[in-house]
Amino acid sequence: MLFGSRQELKHAIDTHNIKDDRDIKYLRNENGRVKAICKNSMCKWFIYANRLSGEVGLQIRKWNLDHTCIHVYDNKTLSLSWLAKYYAKKFRNSLTYKASDFIKEMGLKLGQHMSKWMAWRAKVVALKSIYGNEDTQHKQIWNFCTEVVETNPATKYFVKTIFNEEGQPVFQRWYLCWTGCRSGFSDGCRKLIGVDGFHLKNNYGGQLLDAIAIDPNNNIFPITYVVVEVENKQSYEWFLNHLADDVGIKSRIVEEELEHYAWTFISDKQK
Ligand SMILES: [Zn+2]
Repeated sequence: MLFGSRQELKHAIDTHNIKDDRDIKYLRNENGRVKAICKNSMCKWFIYANRLSGEVGLQIRKWNLDHTCIHVYDNKTLSLSWLAKYYAKKFRNSLTYKASDFIKEMGLKLGQHMSKWMAWRAKVVALKSIYGNEDTQHKQIWNFCTEVVETNPATKYFVKTIFNEEGQPVFQRWYLCWTGCRSGFSDGCRKLIGVDGFHLKNNYGGQLLDAIAIDPNNNIFPITYVVVEVENKQSYEWFLNHLADDVGIKSRIVEEELEHYAWTFISDKQK
């Protein structure tokens, strides 16, 4: 059995033993090796996993999964960090997952009683692990854009910020059109652009708007996408003005009247 990381393996081992009411401990905790034994010194239960050279994940090599000890009722393996990881996994699958659902599921699936206080603490740690990453990612948007242009010259991006009450710039919108998408659209697609929007499921909300075309094989071809605060007239104007500049729609309009009518836009807002 192969596990992607040491954390993933340990979470699986812990979950198995929490379900079984057994308390275990880890002996080897280096990156490349994990060994867990039962806390009861008379019990022969153990798992040993390591990483072979050249492999990314860890593989279980030796094991004895038969506990000869008695069940424990104050299981130390059921730690706050395990609970937070479990909650985070459930929450990523369903954003409406509540602490009360968590308590219920722990009782039904794992046979573990958990207090409201413990469930709430696990939820706080889990949400921090999820949304804390988003905070960091938003702060790195300028670095990301610089890296994109360095590796994909002529890729176009725009970041729009607004100022908060403290006078600090706050992210509002982001536009990105990859060089390959722009040239692929200009060289091989029809003058037809479909635009649509989707809600982003994260701590900050917002919406993703995208523009797609149809390639010569009648397949959908992505042109560009933006992140905006909300899907409305102002955000669409901002998006479509950048898109028009990018793919050269404006310059063609003034050349001759026929060109003006050569473009077709499709949107779910059209009735
Ligand atoms: Zn045991």
